[in-house]
Amino acid sequence: MPQNMRPRIRVLDGATIDRIAAGEVIERPASVVKELLENALDAGARHLRIDIADGGMTRVAVEDDGHGVPFADLPLAFERHATSKIASAADIMQVGTFGFRGEALASIAAVSRCEMISRAEGEEVGGRIALTGGELERREPAPRNPGTTVRVSDLFFNTPARRKFMGTPAAERRAITSVVTTLALAHPEVRWLLEADGQPVLDLLPVDSLPARARDLLGATAVDNLARFERTEGGLSVGGLASRPTWTRGNRTQQFVYVNRRPVQSRTVGQAVALAYREVIPPGRFPVVILFLQIPVGEVDVNVHPAKTEVRLLLERRVFALVRVALQEGLNLRAAGPLAAAAVGAGETAGAPEGTADEIMAGLAQAEADYLRRHFRHDTSAPLRPGDREPAQGELFGGAASQPALSEPAGDVESALRPAPFWQLHRTYILTQIRGGLVIIDQHNSHERILYNEASRALAAEQGRIPTQQLLFPVHLELTPDQIQAFHQHREQLAALGFGIQPFGGQSILVQGIPASLKNWAEGQVLLDILDDLAEHEGAADESRTALLASYACHAAVRAGELLSLPEMQNLVDRLFATDLPLSCPHGRPTLIRFSLEDLEKRFGRR
Ligand code: ADP
Ligand code: MG
Repeated sequence: MPQNMRPRIRVLDGATIDRIAAGEVIERPASVVKELLENALDAGARHLRIDIADGGMTRVAVEDDGHGVPFADLPLAFERHATSKIASAADIMQVGTFGFRGEALASIAAVSRCEMISRAEGEEVGGRIALTGGELERREPAPRNPGTTVRVSDLFFNTPARRKFMGTPAAERRAITSVVTTLALAHPEVRWLLEADGQPVLDLLPVDSLPARARDLLGATAVDNLARFERTEGGLSVGGLASRPTWTRGNRTQQFVYVNRRPVQSRTVGQAVALAYREVIPPGRFPVVILFLQIPVGEVDVNVHPAKTEVRLLLERRVFALVRVALQEGLNLRAAGPLAAAAVGAGETAGAPEGTADEIMAGLAQAEADYLRRHFRHDTSAPLRPGDREPAQGELFGGAASQPALSEPAGDVESALRPAPFWQLHRTYILTQIRGGLVIIDQHNSHERILYNEASRALAAEQGRIPTQQLLFPVHLELTPDQIQAFHQHREQLAALGFGIQPFGGQSILVQGIPASLKNWAEGQVLLDILDDLAEHEGAADESRTALLASYACHAAVRAGELLSLPEMQNLVDRLFATDLPLSCPHGRPTLIRFSLEDLEKRFGRR
């Protein structure tokens, strides 16, 4: 750029500043819902109605019965940094309301067409104010019962770049449902109604306890598998509901953390939860946790994120220790396993742990590695499982002259494979000899491949349905709103996979039969995991079909760590080689590794 074209520094105009600032607070329709609901709760509302259209992109409306905004103050409510909740910076550390920055309404109005209709306590009539892209259009008296309605239309109509980044209406609706779920769990005394495109999604009557509210939102089945925990120490307290170790989920969507009733993302709390459960649940599984921390207001800084979803905890170490101990004691999570000793070794003796959460996690990883190293040397826990007969001499070395190369098609491996004994190594791998050497098969990856192909044929109706195994005692499951919706959308496909499921009124279903090839039914957790995955991929039919296949295969497959009998190993290997893509699992991980005799001879210096 030529020198005389150097851009000049200038102060941006108000409308531009507003749009830039709005981008930080209002990322997507769910952020609008969150801000409007927080305002309504701050106004003391007991009755909330949320109405959205097209995932909130065309309309978000929130109606409350709170204390309202006086007619004279209506324009002020939309001014940046105008708030009724604090008066000076000193108040920020003591703030007890959700809001205090005074920028949510200004931000929303800057990027939408927005109107507020409100009648304040003690006023005769209400008023209405309308803004477009932050510009005041009109203010006039309007009838309304005491309370406030905010209606936001055409979000991001004037910021097309942002608009392009929105997900599908289904994805935005799910994000909104999640915002409402999170706030509704913390406010069981409030009546919540969420409607999407005219259909009720959540309809929650006021109740008097957290478990009662959790039942509506997470399903009674999940809540029956949660237990209470509670602990207070030196002015800090924590309490809530958390999973018994036998009830886990495939992701963290059912972990809710609140600081002084404000929903937050907290690394410290997340790590404390993970550590508390580390010894008792398998890797890759997550507990359900609804956790409320009560911290003296002066010890939390809520002003570190424009959307106030993160907080800074000044007592990080104490919070970490408190949460971990509360869960371990309340849920009885202290396992007597070898990892428990490792945890103590990492500086986790009685009372507060030494070091920060990160240091403790690093110490644990080290302790665990040491444990594994020791264990590997004197291994008695994972014996080889030999087959039922010794191989004949000829089988072991007979085919050395005609070894198939690694890159050759699997059919050659298959033909060279039988008859052979199988060993299960570390309850994870199947070792078997082949004519030209040996193969190590990953039991989970290969079972996944088998189930994926079988399910894919069943869905394509090439081969009829997967056979169903009737359950002796049908299982009644209460689902979340997302799960029940995924079930209704995929009912046919689930039936083709061998699930015998009947709707059972409201959000419940009755499972009478499961796919005959399913190894890990786990009282229904498999099905819930599959429904969760389906809810995530709702949208394009192709994508959801692939999601269903991958999810079914992954959740139904035998896991690493499961003991297999000889016939089970034989069956798995036979079926693996009967598939058309036997060398990798659906995620592309290998199903087997092959060593040729030539490789072995090289390693032993025979060549
Ligand atoms: P903040 O919540 O940080 O104060 P907002 O921009 O969200 O900022 O709201 C500005 C002001 O408008 C609030 O301080 C409050 O006085 C008023 N207000 C907004 N929504 C409502 C509502 N639903 N009921 C009553 N007052 C409201
Ligand atoms: Mg606010």
